[in-house]
Amino acid sequence: MAALNFGAELQKLRVKQTKNCPVCGQEFTGYSNAETCSGKCRIKKHRESKKMNMSAVLINTDNQIISDDDIFINSDKDFDAIEQMAKESCVVCAIRWSRSTDGQIAYWTPAGASLQPHWYNAERS
Ligand SMILES: [Zn+2]
Repeated sequence: MAALNFGAELQKLRVKQTKNCPVCGQEFTGYSNAETCSGKCRIKKHRESKKMNMSAVLINTDNQIISDDDIFINSDKDFDAIEQMAKESCVVCAIRWSRSTDGQIAYWTPAGASLQPHWYNAERS
């Protein structure tokens, strides 16, 4: 049982501190490693961190948006669908995506994200 007692001693050494929950903004008292006030906020924070806040559009060589709507990207897998759209489009087009969290704008290419547009269907024109 020595190990358990040691754990209890460690527990006592942990210092509680008052801080603000980054999710709901409420002040709470928690151990130094506690990030949020409650399990509910912890789950919300985790969910939000997974959200990529990215959307993608198809553009033509005149830099005009040719897709009907912004397509929201929640994971790299979502690029598969828009890439398929680009390939099936009858005009030369590129996939441009933007991230609302930091304003980053870039392009999607068969090799992944890039600062240079990749022109789909260019070989057909
Ligand atoms: Zn909270």
